[in-house]
Amino acid sequence: MADPTTIRIPDELKPVDGRFGCGPSKIQPAAVSALADVASDFLGTSHRQKTVRDQVARLRRGLAEFFSLPEGYEVVLGNGGTTAFWEVATFGLIRDRAQFASFGEFGAKFAKSVAQAPFLGEPTIRKAEPGSAPALIAEAGVDAYALPQNETSTGVAVPVKRVAGADPGALLLVDATSAAGGLDVDVAESDVYYFAPQKCFASDGGLWLALMSPAALARATEIKESGRYIPGFLDLVTAIDNSRLEQTYNTPALATIFLAAEQTDWMNSQGGLAWAAKRTAESAGIIYGWAERSDVATPFVTDPGLRSNVVATIDFAEDVDATAIAKALRANGILDTEPYRKLGRNQLRVALYPAIDPADVEALTASIDHVIAQL
Ligand SMILES: *Cc1c(COP(=O)(O)O)cnc(C)c1O
Repeated sequence: MADPTTIRIPDELKPVDGRFGCGPSKIQPAAVSALADVASDFLGTSHRQKTVRDQVARLRRGLAEFFSLPEGYEVVLGNGGTTAFWEVATFGLIRDRAQFASFGEFGAKFAKSVAQAPFLGEPTIRKAEPGSAPALIAEAGVDAYALPQNETSTGVAVPVKRVAGADPGALLLVDATSAAGGLDVDVAESDVYYFAPQKCFASDGGLWLALMSPAALARATEIKESGRYIPGFLDLVTAIDNSRLEQTYNTPALATIFLAAEQTDWMNSQGGLAWAAKRTAESAGIIYGWAERSDVATPFVTDPGLRSNVVATIDFAEDVDATAIAKALRANGILDTEPYRKLGRNQLRVALYPAIDPADVEALTASIDHVIAQL
């Protein structure tokens, strides 16, 4: 076999931008330029002053517009990314018993946090093999249901829908980290639609954002008033209070906030969520269509109804080494197509987020074909 790193992909086949990672993901050059333009009076200035709070306000307003935020819902934010939000939810949103849909790395991690919390009841974990998804089902005594809308580790996406027959007042917590901004959603079907901005929001990491329903806001207050010990950094009521003041409890990454606000405004100017969902669907059509026509590639997710429009996972035939393809692509500036490390498949994984041009997804497929022919 040829050393994959010596393969040269002709420039005319290559995507204009070679970033296909699922997170951190492509940040648009225009957003980076806009950040550079404000660098001297924004970066390195106090997050308690107007200049920075105006950017937090711009982001919260932009998200409310993008998601057509239902009456009474609020945009809440804090530091630490989605992984921190799982702990925030463990301490501040689950009263006693939760039910999880677990069908990949990310869903499993939140379930594990809750299972280990000594002050919570034993959760129900509904599992499915990677590449498929289990349903949440009504269960007496469950006060919070949780699922990822898009399992970034496997490329499976599921609809966001309330659990029929759930106890009155039970919350639905949706990990939308890679889905938010690229997959259609009716936020009113959830109580907490949470994400981090290094995926469809084309920013850097380190922040969590949550669209919270009136019931979820009330739950946070109820749990805090119950006297449960809640570490200050993970206190959701503190985060809600700070968000209303356009700030965070402790110092945020200012560049992350600015870049997320830029991407949100850009997506709103293009036509909002409807536009973004159409664009990712177009990219998905290109890559899954190519895989289905290919003799050596197949979509990993066999049920077309579960295939994600924001994260495509493509399996390769045994005699084609996906690791070698990813190496050759990397040597040509086409980055981060490696599969999720723990899935352990002969696979490439490709982000199809709204910042990524469908024409570049097309060029990626041509580049992969070229590499396979040379290997
Ligand atoms: C990326 C991702 C996470 C982790 O986000 P962090 O901000 O790195 O903690 C969690 N859930 C899903 C679905 C993800 O895609």
